[in-house]
Amino acid sequence: MEFNTRLLHGGAIPVNPGREILPPIAQVTAFRYGSMEELESVFQHKSMGYAYSRIGNPTLTALEQRINELEGGVGAVCCSSGMSAITNALLAVCNSGDEIIAASRLYGGSIDLFHDLEKLGIHTVFVRELTAEACRERINEKTRVIFGEFISNPSLQVLDIPALAAVAHEAGIPLFVDSTTATPYVANPLSLGADVVIHSTSKYINGGGNSIGGVIVDGGKFAWDFEKHAALREFKKYGKRALSVRLRTDIWENTGGCMAPMNAFLSYIGLDTLGLRMEKICKNADRLAKALAELPGIEVNYLTLETHPYHQYVDKELNGYGGGILTFRTGSKEKAFRIVNALKYALIASNIGDIRTLVIHPASTLYIHEAAEEREAAGVFDDTIRVSVGIEDAEDLIRDFTEAIAAAETGAEL
Ligand SMILES: *Cc1c(COP(=O)(O)O)cnc(C)c1O
Repeated sequence: MEFNTRLLHGGAIPVNPGREILPPIAQVTAFRYGSMEELESVFQHKSMGYAYSRIGNPTLTALEQRINELEGGVGAVCCSSGMSAITNALLAVCNSGDEIIAASRLYGGSIDLFHDLEKLGIHTVFVRELTAEACRERINEKTRVIFGEFISNPSLQVLDIPALAAVAHEAGIPLFVDSTTATPYVANPLSLGADVVIHSTSKYINGGGNSIGGVIVDGGKFAWDFEKHAALREFKKYGKRALSVRLRTDIWENTGGCMAPMNAFLSYIGLDTLGLRMEKICKNADRLAKALAELPGIEVNYLTLETHPYHQYVDKELNGYGGGILTFRTGSKEKAFRIVNALKYALIASNIGDIRTLVIHPASTLYIHEAAEEREAAGVFDDTIRVSVGIEDAEDLIRDFTEAIAAAETGAEL
């Protein structure tokens, strides 16, 4: 071998493959085969194997299998972002001319996506309170899916999944749930009757704030009517697995929304500590919410507060947890900015689910594309602050917020 040939083909035999305690990071574009016959067989789906990382990669498989197991699905697909996961899941079941029923209280990016889908001929009917009754009234012959966030970010509306699933299933429509803020530790939408679960893994699953990603988990129980769901017709022979198969071999593969192998690895490590983090985060959020609720002029929105309209769901669907997000209203945008600017530990950042406490003024950032009316329907007011509670010591967080609010009140410099 001459130099450049030796550079590429000399040595490089993997040591001890298959014995790693963590999945190896298969940071490759493609996988090599010993013969053309073997690669042909992989392409024909006659033998298992990876060919090209947009279509499948072992590091993604490791994360997919774990999340699928936690959610109780029949198959998961890791996407480049939460938005990619939502886009892929919806495009897999909707054609032009079809309709979606969605909650108004959604992550801002999701509302933006529904606006984009209008241009593809997919119309979304928004519902202020995504209840079973509201859906029953709006379902028509064009409706193909009901979409909502289990615990809406940031307004904290909780879906009554068993009731919604009953109405949806009666009409032959699946229920898709974005469970990013609930996390697989706090709640399991599939076990309550949802058909598909979506997560932005960028948030609590990763937990360390180091990579964007998303995942779709197919519950595999929905009995598709292939006349109604024409988008899945070509996949009829797969029956209840039609959605998984279409995602994996068609939409997800063709839109190119695969997760990066390094991000899959980082999220895999993050997932290891999801239970520990959520215990601490939920405890901290509960204590911080109760402390803030004592302060004059501050209106707190957190699920474990007994005055919260969705308080009953904490025990009914969320295993006693309130999640890691709380919001509070301050009286004015100016005051909200003063409070946020005065915080010492909470970082000003547009993210949630980090181990560090993060704060943001959503109206001026995440909901900048939405009209005031749409923003308010999503539970975002001009004076709202969103807090994604981290794993710091609760006493320090309570002191930080209490002092910042007091300073904003008096206008004192901190
Ligand atoms: C962040 C978020 C998304 C979008 O996820 P990305 O990974 O940022 O694309 C979707 N839904 C919810 C509830 C989110 O919080």
